[in-house]
Amino acid sequence: LRIRNPFPCLAHSGIVPVVYTPGRRCLATQSEQSAPGQESDNKKERVVILGSGWGGYTLSRRLSRKTYAPLIISPRSYFVFTPLLTNTASGSLDFSNIVEPVRDPRAKVDFIQAAARAVNLKKKTVLCEATVVKSGVTESPRTAEELRGTDEGPETTNMKPMQAYRQWEQGEIFEVPYDKLVIAVGAVSRTFGTPGVRENAMFFKDIGDAKRVKRRVRECFELAVLPLTTPEMRKWLLNFAIVGAGPTGIELAASLRDFIYSDLMALYPSLDEIPKITLYDVAPKVLSMFDESLSRYAMETMKSEGIDIKTSHHVKSLRWGPPGASPPYQMDPKRCLTLTTEEDGELGVGMCVWATGNAMPKFITESLDLIDAYPTDSIHSIESSTARTEPENASWKFKKGPRKGPLLVDGYLRVQLQNETGQTAVLRDVFALGDNAMPESGAPPATAQAANQESKWLANRLNKGDLAQTPPFSFRDLGTMAYIGNERALMQIPHNGDRGSNSFLPEGIKGHTASLIWKMAYISMTISWRNKLRVAFRWTLNKFFGRDVSRF
Ligand code: FAD
Repeated sequence: LRIRNPFPCLAHSGIVPVVYTPGRRCLATQSEQSAPGQESDNKKERVVILGSGWGGYTLSRRLSRKTYAPLIISPRSYFVFTPLLTNTASGSLDFSNIVEPVRDPRAKVDFIQAAARAVNLKKKTVLCEATVVKSGVTESPRTAEELRGTDEGPETTNMKPMQAYRQWEQGEIFEVPYDKLVIAVGAVSRTFGTPGVRENAMFFKDIGDAKRVKRRVRECFELAVLPLTTPEMRKWLLNFAIVGAGPTGIELAASLRDFIYSDLMALYPSLDEIPKITLYDVAPKVLSMFDESLSRYAMETMKSEGIDIKTSHHVKSLRWGPPGASPPYQMDPKRCLTLTTEEDGELGVGMCVWATGNAMPKFITESLDLIDAYPTDSIHSIESSTARTEPENASWKFKKGPRKGPLLVDGYLRVQLQNETGQTAVLRDVFALGDNAMPESGAPPATAQAANQESKWLANRLNKGDLAQTPPFSFRDLGTMAYIGNERALMQIPHNGDRGSNSFLPEGIKGHTASLIWKMAYISMTISWRNKLRVAFRWTLNKFFGRDVSRF
């Protein structure tokens, strides 16, 4: 076996090179010896953070540099300000306006562009695969590798596991030691196993997704005006379906509506009245987390703006080719797709964006269960139990929510293990937060707001170095906002059902005022001053020159 070090420049950082053979996990490891005099940071605890999203990025910026040496491991070398992602797909903002680089000399955070594949609790290491030359784990769900990393796995797709695997994408495998580990790898889109969705739908989680949506919309308009396109195909190409009427689906439909009716129609006057946006949901109403009156207002306003809202509709399948076509159905971006619903049957669409909620990535559902040995040293406490089995002999797994759900954490965001006898053990140095974690005491919603609060809370507690003495994490609802198109928005003011002494407050704000508050709020929440100014400037510029209609 030839031991090679994929990162010579990291020789003294504690990262261990691993021999990797395709098809096998790892054959041997060899620790690097630190050179004398190279251990200046050894007194600081290494906090390895998996993920560069709302949870991971915020935490890394808040940890004390006197005590900790944070290291982010993520396939994404940037942080995405997700609340404004729909604005980039509709040309209101540039893609670069909403990302912050993870590497920043001022922040003093180490970064490795890799995906975590497994955790060894006994050795306190994370096994990683470099993803530097990959399109990105969270970006493109179309390679078999990425299909395997999703909620449904390969069995629900007609792609054979290795069929779409690009050999050059396989990255170096190596181990990274940690003193404390924070798991914040987020969630993937849930497709409920609907046939054809994983392969043919677009998802909306990352910058790559927003780019694909914008490009496809522009592509459909150009295809529609080609001389040989039939009127029927033109209608199908310009029918844009969005499945899921939660905040992401609603905001995307609203932003695309603005883009198409205010900007694109001026470029394609011959297509007047043909483009259509259709929003599907199985629930009887949209934005179920908002109060009834706000949800109704959203539905009525969006309908009046030309968005077709189909609630209580069940999507059965999605495939390439026009309605009525016979198999085999092959991907052909020059033509439309067919979306089938139980209620309306087959319908031609130019694009289908799937935004129906969260499922756990494979790292959470499967990889973490590969616990080799009982990690005696890592255990903080074991819950008393009537079981007789000695913990060392029992087989332990990470404790998770129902149906391959998120990692269950205690009030201090510490990850828990569970054995087959039902005993629970709390890990001392392994934490989870954000979409992939669920505090047992009461789950906050899977939002940036919650991930942000959790990471700030954890950073604060770790900085104090006094976990046991502090009150556990509790989520504070600061309200919810959603953009519903044509400079209108909704703002839900938090209340606990019974408005009691707060009854003088309105239950929410809606319309143009809410849209103004929505804009001000997101400018103020945008992380860097550079992006705050760029966002404000672009929104002002759009008023005079319209949105960016270019297609890359
Ligand atoms: P994420 O922010 O998703 O970050 C996960 C990170 O983990 C990513 O960097 C990813 O690359 C990385 N990763 C994935 N797999 C691995 C692996 N194996 N190893 C290492 N790293 C890995 N919430 C709100 O509160 N308000 C809003 O207005 C709002 N709007 C939204 C709009 C859109 C379009 C979307 C998609 C979400 C929106 N949300 C909003 C929800 C919010 O973005 C999420 O709840 C939040 O991002 C969760 O943070 P997280 O850190 O758990 O995960």
